[in-house]
Amino acid sequence: MTDQIWENVRSGLNDSLGDSAFSTWIEPLEFRGLENGVVYLAAPTSFIGNWVSQHYGDRIRNLMSTAGVKVARLDFAVAPKSAGRKPVPANAQPVETAEPRTPRATPAARTPDGGTDLPGSPLDARYTFDSFVVGKPNELAHAASRRVAEGGPVTFNPLFLYGGVGLGKTHLMHAIAWELQATDPSRRVLYLSAEQFMYRFVQALRYKDTLGFKELFRSVDVLMVDDVQFIAGKESTQEEFFHTFNALVDQNKQIVISADRAPGEISGLEDRIKSRLQCGLVVDLHPTDYELRLGILQTKAEAQSQLHNGIEIETRVLEFLAHRISSNVRVLEGALTRLYAFASLVGRKIDLDMTQECLADVLRASERKVTVDEIIRKVADHYNVRMADLLGPRRSRAVSRPRQVAMFLSKTLTTKSLPEIGRRFGGRDHTTVIHAVRKIEELRAVDSQIAEEVELLRRMLEA
Ligand code: ADP
Ligand code: MG
Repeated sequence: MTDQIWENVRSGLNDSLGDSAFSTWIEPLEFRGLENGVVYLAAPTSFIGNWVSQHYGDRIRNLMSTAGVKVARLDFAVAPKSAGRKPVPANAQPVETAEPRTPRATPAARTPDGGTDLPGSPLDARYTFDSFVVGKPNELAHAASRRVAEGGPVTFNPLFLYGGVGLGKTHLMHAIAWELQATDPSRRVLYLSAEQFMYRFVQALRYKDTLGFKELFRSVDVLMVDDVQFIAGKESTQEEFFHTFNALVDQNKQIVISADRAPGEISGLEDRIKSRLQCGLVVDLHPTDYELRLGILQTKAEAQSQLHNGIEIETRVLEFLAHRISSNVRVLEGALTRLYAFASLVGRKIDLDMTQECLADVLRASERKVTVDEIIRKVADHYNVRMADLLGPRRSRAVSRPRQVAMFLSKTLTTKSLPEIGRRFGGRDHTTVIHAVRKIEELRAVDSQIAEEVELLRRMLEA
């Protein structure tokens, strides 16, 4: 009886998608059953499973519910379409199920090859170029990734992306993979973490199938290995990686690698591998700046708002978060998710009060610990005065103004008390500090140059 429901869903999809999209995406699926509100489906490749889940998941759920079946979620396994029916639940490797996402353009209708699926890590459907916000700190990495994603002739090999945690390396790699797959589903794109590369290799050794391993990895068109620093110190894995790498480069196949630092700085990596990794284009993702954080927050807030029936968020809140949370993007995302969840529970718009209450722990943890010493150093440097003068008794304008700026910044960027700040400035009285803070506040309001200087210094200190 559930088979009949699936048939109805299929014909509903055929009507709404048209023959071409239907035969590309829905025809290859195998319905394996329905249990406790979970629809079990098998797709010949994880790409197809992901795509259907992303683009047609809601439609399938709706058609099911029209047929009177409440569906909590779709579960995609990866398996070639078989003639006979398999038991539920499927035992093949599950495809990561994703949240509802913003729709993308339908791909050029190409029939996927439906061949053996590559043993890669699942791609996160949210990590596309569309959802990647570009700013100064990541524009080069983004441009290089775009170029690779065009799938044209290989111009740099490998593309090596590196940067600190949460800056978007994995996001960019997934985006490249999605794009390459969407423009040509027959292209064999293998994305996996270095850890998984090692796991596969170790398994191949254990089951005496290194030949199969080699064949598999050397048959891909594009190889992407994430967090390659993981194989540092793992000698036989490195060795195998090196050979795979060389074989693919020789065949002019594109390779994309990421790591948390530059190739030369990964200790425990053989020199020949380091130099191989440096052969192509090495680009780094810089820590996010305020503008980028704000841009990312705006984009993610829109997506969250759609998920939560249009709950609004004040612009001030986004600015506040971009300002206060300077750590990685993952923390920003987590903060937003929590805010929206909270707001939808209490049915309120997200304002500053709610934010401070709801994110108290996150805000405390990410408090940027700027020290008075750092401020003094930066300010002296910026105004080209000696630190000794800044802290000394001189009262000429050339020194006293920078001193006031430094005191002002010490008061606003640190948690030090006025007397403590006074002491750091050559044993001055706390009233001197109060005076300096007021003075700069006044000046900022009327003198745009001072205002800009203070803002610039603040940003440099908080970066
Ligand atoms: P990394 O691999 O460098 O540690 P990820 O790619 O996993 O970082 O990114 C962490 C999170 O931040 C992901 O959810 C990703 O979507 C998000 N993110 C990072 N940079 C950006 C960006 N520029 N635009 C949108 N989202 C981003
Ligand atoms: Mg990553």
